[in-house]
Parts: sequence; C-alpha cells; structure tokens
Amino acid sequence: MGRVFNFSAGPAALPVSVLERARDEMVDYQNSGMSVMEMSHRSKEYMAIIAKAEALVRKLMGIPKNYHVLFQQGGATMQFTTVPMNLISDPSTQSADYINTGSWSKKAIKEAKKQFANVRVAATSEEVNFSRIPTQDELKLNPESTYVHMTTNNTIFGTEFHYTPDTGSVPLVADMSSNILSRKLDVSRFGIIYAGAQKNLGPSGVTLVVVRDDLVGRNDGLPLMADYKAQAEKESMLNTPPTYAIYILGLVLEWMESKGGVEAMEKINIRKAAKLYSAIDASGFYGCPTQVESRSRMNIPFTLKDDGLNAAFLEQAKGAGLVTLKGHRSVGGMRASIYNAMPEEGVDALISFMQDFERKNG
Ligand SMILES: *Cc1c(COP(=O)(O)O)cnc(C)c1O
Repeated sequence: MGRVFNFSAGPAALPVSVLERARDEMVDYQNSGMSVMEMSHRSKEYMAIIAKAEALVRKLMGIPKNYHVLFQQGGATMQFTTVPMNLISDPSTQSADYINTGSWSKKAIKEAKKQFANVRVAATSEEVNFSRIPTQDELKLNPESTYVHMTTNNTIFGTEFHYTPDTGSVPLVADMSSNILSRKLDVSRFGIIYAGAQKNLGPSGVTLVVVRDDLVGRNDGLPLMADYKAQAEKESMLNTPPTYAIYILGLVLEWMESKGGVEAMEKINIRKAAKLYSAIDASGFYGCPTQVESRSRMNIPFTLKDDGLNAAFLEQAKGAGLVTLKGHRSVGGMRASIYNAMPEEGVDALISFMQDFERKNG
C-alpha cells in the first residue's frame, strides 16, 4: 500500500521527507555507527540534536530570552497538573481562571481542582456544545487570579481562538497542543505555553513547555519531574529524556524552517481550511457544526445530511486513500484534521471525494 492522506487528530501525519530522513539515518546516524535511539543522551551527538531542536523552537516561535524551553514527558495531560503545582503556592487563598472551550479545557479544569479549590470558570461555550469561542467581552476575568488558562485550539470541537485574550498582568497559560506553530503568535503575551508533540510537532512521547522566568521556582519541594525549576536547571535532562521523539521533533522543525517557517505555514493553513469550509458551506449535503468566526484551521468537523451514510462515506474515503475521518463521538459525523504536515493536495483530494460522494448520494 502507498502512503495515504491521514486526517488523524493525533498522533497525526508527519511530513514524508522527515520520515524518509529518519529512515535513512535510522541504523547509522551521521557516521556515529549507531541509531539515535541507542545513543547516550549525554553524548556529544545527542547534545547537538537536543540543542538544535531547542534553537529551532526558539527561532520559529520567536521566543524571548526570558523564557525556558523544556522537553517534558507525560503529555499535555501531565501539564494540566504540573501548571497548578508550579503556580499555586497557597491553595486556600489563590485562585485561577479557566476558559472552558471544550473537552480538553474540561480535563484541565478537573485536574486543577485536584490541586486547589478555587478554580473559576471565566467563560464557557458549553451551552452551545462548544461550537464557538467566547469573545474578550464575555470573559469574566478575576484580576486577582494567579493565572488564566485557555485551550487555543479545540481539537475535538473544531474551534480556535483567533485572538489572544487580554488578561492584564495575570499570566496567561495556554494549551496549544493542536495549533502550535500553525500561525504567528506573540509569545510575550503568554506566561506558559505547552503542547503535546503528536499533532503539529512530531511523534508522541514529548511535550513542549515554554515557561517565563518568573513563573519558575515559585514552590519548593515539588516532585522533581514536575518542577519547572529543576527541569530548566538541568535543561530537560533530569533523567533520560524521550530522545528519539525529540530527534524527530527537530527534523519536523527543520522541515518547517525549510518551507518558510510559521508565516508560510499559516498562509497555507488559511488556504487549506478556507477551501474545505467553502466546499462544506457550498453544498446542501454537508454541514459544519461550528460558528463561522470561531472555526479552527486545524480540525474541521463536518456532518452528512443523512447519518445513515456515514459508514459508506468512511469506507469509500478509505478506498480513495483518505483515512481517519471519523468524527469524535461528542460531535458526530466526520472530522478532518489538517495540521501543518497535511499537504494541500490532501485537502484537494478530500474535497473532490466529498463532491463525488455527494453526486452519487445527494
Ligand atoms: C491531544 C490534546 C491533549 C492531550 O495530549 P496528550 O499529550 O495526549 O496528553 C490536550 N490538549 C489538547 C488541546 C489536545 O489536542
């Protein structure tokens, strides 16, 4: 079987050229006589790999000097816990605001509540099944809160913030797992950014955490692995980091840079998403559950006029080399995840297939 267009929400498609390069370097990495997987994480070769990955993260995201870049384990999910652990020193008096825009926000809220009581929901769009993003005016922010937490892109519901909330002097913490490096961003507006790698950065197993200096070292006695300060001091090498995942992440970032960086990615992403949404909106057969101004460029849910056709759609799509289009159960229908690594031809192929399917079944 040849390569398919894989619309998986995560782990998601990687650029073919990255996979091919990893294949070429798999057994003997640059004349070291061994695979990156077999290398000591303290070796000269590996130190160069992780340093390059960090340098590329900094360059592509435009990260100011007063931020640490950490490669962590435990996924974005671990950060739901690590963030409050590091930022909340007195659980009886401190509070934090959470913007609830979907399943991942809810999970972040649930985990935070295990750490401290005063988790406030500053806004939610649950009453419309998370089909839209609250506007700045709708955010009921508490200026006394320790931080504000948001999910920049809602992987399951297919919505995305197209603005960065103004939180005044309260640090903004963002789960960017599913849209990191897909659009230009002013990192200085954020206190902490975190993202599981397996959507837009590389394979699963590594989580990128970008944290501002002053948010590190607020609490003593944290579990070592959850302590940003300890992690920053040892440059993510407190223990064995996920070496191979970081290596692949570095290759993905090199690919991104060669394509023109975030600006180029964003342009293509806007075009890919616009095409697919127009095709959906132009048909009477497909529908999109999200409100226009809140639509995600990364995850595009859509429904068929008749749910009874879903199985046939998925099967025939698969036959056409278009896979993993089944929607999440909380939304239903289909979902096309079109991260940076999804080529525009993949989106074109999906649109042609959809039009063809409509002609036969509409
Ligand atoms: C996938 C995802 C997560 C969970 O990531 P893990 O790395 O599996 O823990 C969290 N938040 C968002 C927005 C996601 O898309």
